[in-house]
Amino acid sequence: MERCNSCIMPKTHHSVRFDGDTCSLCAAHTGKVMVRSPSNDVDCHIERIRKAGEGLAFDCLVGISGGRDSTYLLHQLVRRHGLRCLAAYHRTPFTPDIIDANVRRLVERLNVPLVEMDIPMDYHRRIARAVVLLWLKKPLPVIANLACAPCKSHNREILKIAKKHGIKYLVMGSNKYELFQLNSGYHDALADRISFAAKLKQLLMLMKKGGLVLTQSVGIWRFLWVGIRSVLYISPESPFLRCCYGDINTFNYFFHTEWSEAECEKSLSELGWEIPPNCNSSWRADCVFAEVKNYMFGKMNGISYVDALFSNLIRAGILSRDEALKRVDTEGKFSRDRFAEACRIMNLHTDIFN
Ligand SMILES: [Zn+2]
Repeated sequence: MERCNSCIMPKTHHSVRFDGDTCSLCAAHTGKVMVRSPSNDVDCHIERIRKAGEGLAFDCLVGISGGRDSTYLLHQLVRRHGLRCLAAYHRTPFTPDIIDANVRRLVERLNVPLVEMDIPMDYHRRIARAVVLLWLKKPLPVIANLACAPCKSHNREILKIAKKHGIKYLVMGSNKYELFQLNSGYHDALADRISFAAKLKQLLMLMKKGGLVLTQSVGIWRFLWVGIRSVLYISPESPFLRCCYGDINTFNYFFHTEWSEAECEKSLSELGWEIPPNCNSSWRADCVFAEVKNYMFGKMNGISYVDALFSNLIRAGILSRDEALKRVDTEGKFSRDRFAEACRIMNLHTDIFN
């Protein structure tokens, strides 16, 4: 496979341009100070969270999925900072048993109380199935993203839990290198640095994109309400949820401290975190539907999700190109077993994808 000589972006990408052997993302990145170090002011923020929690039962609420990033986040908050956390978790129809076991072990080892979200599993399964069938007829990114709409309601649920327990802070562990699949470097468009007005503008852009798809596919009309809800609940910091839950502060931990993969791995092994069988990468190991998403991503963009992610990490100076090339063969490999498992959950035959 021919790849960019600076990152590992394959030349097969449908929209990234190449000038000779270098992709346009690397070309835009070179010579500019686009990779900002995180502000490293995490201790200040943690003290603010601790102060807000004085006299209350908990300092903060943390949403956990059993995946690597939320596991690492809870570990840092409890072991590094000594915060009193409450964890919120939802087992989706696509959560592997091993991931569910990771969640139970994690809260037990860190001695953190757990609240489980009450979201009907069957609804999630039905939406994912119907959206996949629609995407096969009309392979558009907006439709592919709609398959994950049920998980967006976690963002509202989690704020409801915070309110119910009188918790003042919600701590999130978004990985900034994953925020933008195609990213020349991570920049000011980070969720906690942009203004409410900018977020509102993003929301309108999303609505516009969705509106455009309505003119392209008749089948999507029946998902109109699902789509609107997923835009309203797109993150705990969405303008709609900020209006409803403005008294609960949000803090995105990894935007304020260095994120180290080695440190993350160390914490995971300390907590006995296990990777599900047939899972080639710890990224998105918490959801078997991710394999279907990766398949869709590949069809729409001509590259794998790991190609895009590793390329972001190289541009951010976190991963060397040689290391990425070594890892992409195993971690970027399509898992037929996980894909089949996701199809089985949706009651779909894998042949329909051929
Ligand atoms: Zn490149």
